Amino acid sequence: MSSYEAYKERLLKMKPNIYVGGEKIGRNDPRVEAGMNMIRVSYDAETDPQFKDKAIVKSSLTGKNISLYTHVPQNTEDLLKRQKLTRDLCGLCGGCFQRCMANDTISGISIATKEMDDDLGTEYHQRFFNYLKYYQKNNLCGNAGQTDIKGDRSKRPHEQVDPDLYLRVVEKRKDGIVVCGSKAHNTIAPYADEIIVVPTRAMTKDDADWAVSFAIPSDAEGISLIARASQPRARTHIKAPFNERGVMDSLTVFDNVFVPWERVFMCGEWQYAGRLALLFANYHRFSYCGCKPAMTDVFIGATAMVAEYNGVGNAPHIKDDLAKLMVTAELVYAAGIAAAVTGKKSSSGTFEPNFMYSNAGRYHAGVNIFHEYDILSATAGGWPATMPYEEDFYNKDIKGFLDKYSMRKPGISAEDQHRLFRFISDFSCSAWSGVWQYAGVHGGGSPIMEMIGIRSNYDLKAKKDLVKHLAGIKD
Ligand SMILES: Cc1cc2nc3c(=O)[nH]c(=O)nc-3n(C[C@H](O)[C@H](O)[C@H](O)COP(=O)(O)OP(=O)(O)OC[C@H]3O[C@@H](n4cnc5c(N)ncnc54)[C@H](O)[C@@H]3O)c2cc1C
Repeated sequence: MSSYEAYKERLLKMKPNIYVGGEKIGRNDPRVEAGMNMIRVSYDAETDPQFKDKAIVKSSLTGKNISLYTHVPQNTEDLLKRQKLTRDLCGLCGGCFQRCMANDTISGISIATKEMDDDLGTEYHQRFFNYLKYYQKNNLCGNAGQTDIKGDRSKRPHEQVDPDLYLRVVEKRKDGIVVCGSKAHNTIAPYADEIIVVPTRAMTKDDADWAVSFAIPSDAEGISLIARASQPRARTHIKAPFNERGVMDSLTVFDNVFVPWERVFMCGEWQYAGRLALLFANYHRFSYCGCKPAMTDVFIGATAMVAEYNGVGNAPHIKDDLAKLMVTAELVYAAGIAAAVTGKKSSSGTFEPNFMYSNAGRYHAGVNIFHEYDILSATAGGWPATMPYEEDFYNKDIKGFLDKYSMRKPGISAEDQHRLFRFISDFSCSAWSGVWQYAGVHGGGSPIMEMIGIRSNYDLKAKKDLVKHLAGIKD
C-alpha cells in the first residue's frame, strides 16, 4: 500500500465531524477528497524519481528512511531540500501543497520543549520525541493549529470578556488535560490525521492557562471542524490537473477536549509561549520563501503565455512586468536560501532558519501578492472575467462563434486559447483566487507581523554606531 493509500485509509476510518454549508460530512465527501488530492502530491513525491532524493531523508531519531515532511531539520542541507521541494511541489499544484505546516509546527516544538526542560526542569522534550517517532513511523499528515480567535486584539488572553477566545486549559487531570476554545483558519484540519496546537503569541503569568501545546487526532471527541471548501471551478470538458485539487480551512472548535499527557508539549509555561509561537512562525515564513516563488512561477508563466497568445510577447512593458515578477520570485527564494545557509543549530539539535531572512522573505512575498495579480490581469485583458461558461464552448449551436471569436494569434488552436484563458480565470479571477489573495497576505502572519519581528530583533544600534563612525560623532 502506498503512503497516500495508507493516509486515505486512515482518514476514511475517522468519525464524521466536519461541518460545511449546513451539512455534517465525512472524509469521503468530494470536497475533502479534493484537499486529500493536494496532500497526495507530497506522498507521491516519495517514490517519484524526480523528487525522492529530497522527499525521503533519514530520521534523526531512528536512522530510518522517513518523509521529509515528518522530519525536523538537522542542518542547512535539510532546510535547502525543504525549500527546493516545496517550490517544486507547489509549482506542480499551482498553489499551496499544504504539507509544510505541520512540519513547521513539529520543528518549533522540538526546540521549545528542549529549552523548557533545560530551564524549568519539565519533561516535555522526550515526550515530544516519543510522539514524533510515532508521527514519523506512520508518515502522518498534521495541520498547524496556531491562530486563536483573539477577540479584542488590544487585550491579552486573560483580559478577554470570553476566556475561550484563546484556546485554554480548563482542567488538569492525572491522565491529561481538558481544553476549551478554538483555533481559526485551520488549513488541512478536515483531512489531517492530527491537529497540532501551538500558542499564537507571547503571554504573561496571568495567561498561564492559555499557554498550551499538544497534538490530537482530528476526529477526537469534542472537536468540530467548521469548514469552508475551496476548489478551482469544476471542469466538464477541458479537464486539467489544476482543477483536481482543493483546500479546506476550518474553524476548529475544542469543546472540552481531553488530551492525554503523552500528547501535551506545553501546559502553563507562559514564559515559552512567545518563543514557541515565533519558532513556528519562523519555520512557516521560511516555508513561504519556497512556496510563494512557486506561485510567482505560475504568474510568470501565465503572463508570458497570455502575452504570447495575444501577439504582444515582445512588447517592452510586458517584458518589464515579467522581469518584476522574476525579481520578486527570486528575491523571496534567495531569502529562504540565506535563511537556510545562515541558520543555526538549537540546543535540541534541530536546525533553525535565520529569523531575519525568513521574515524579510515572507514580508516581501506578502506585500507583492496583489501586484502579481495586477500584472497578470493587466496583461490578460478582460476575457478571464467575462468569457462564457465552459459548456457554451461545447454547445453545437454556438461553438463555432466561440471558437472563432476567442482566436488571437494565428497558429494557436481554439482549444489551447480556451484552456489558457480558463486557467487564468480560475487562477486569478475566481472565488478560489480570492482565497489565495488573502492567504498571500495573511498566511504565516500578516506583513505587519514580519515587520514587528524584524524591528524587534534588528541590531539598530550597530547601524547608528556605523553612522556615528562615518560622521565622526563621538559619544
Ligand atoms: C487562507 C489562510 C490560511 C491560513 N491557514 C492557517 C493555518 O493553517 N493555521 C493557523 O494557525 N493559521 C492560519 N492562518 C491564519 C493567519 O496566520 C492569520 O490570518 C494571520 O496571522 C492574521 O491573523 P488574523 O486573521 O486573526 O487577523 P488579525 O489579527 O485581525 O489581523 C488583521 C490586522 O489587524 C491589525 N492588528 C492585529 N492585532 C493587532 C494588535 N495587537 N495591535 C495593532 N494592530 C493589530 C494588523 O494590522 C493586522 O494586519 C491562515 C490564514 C489564511 C488567510
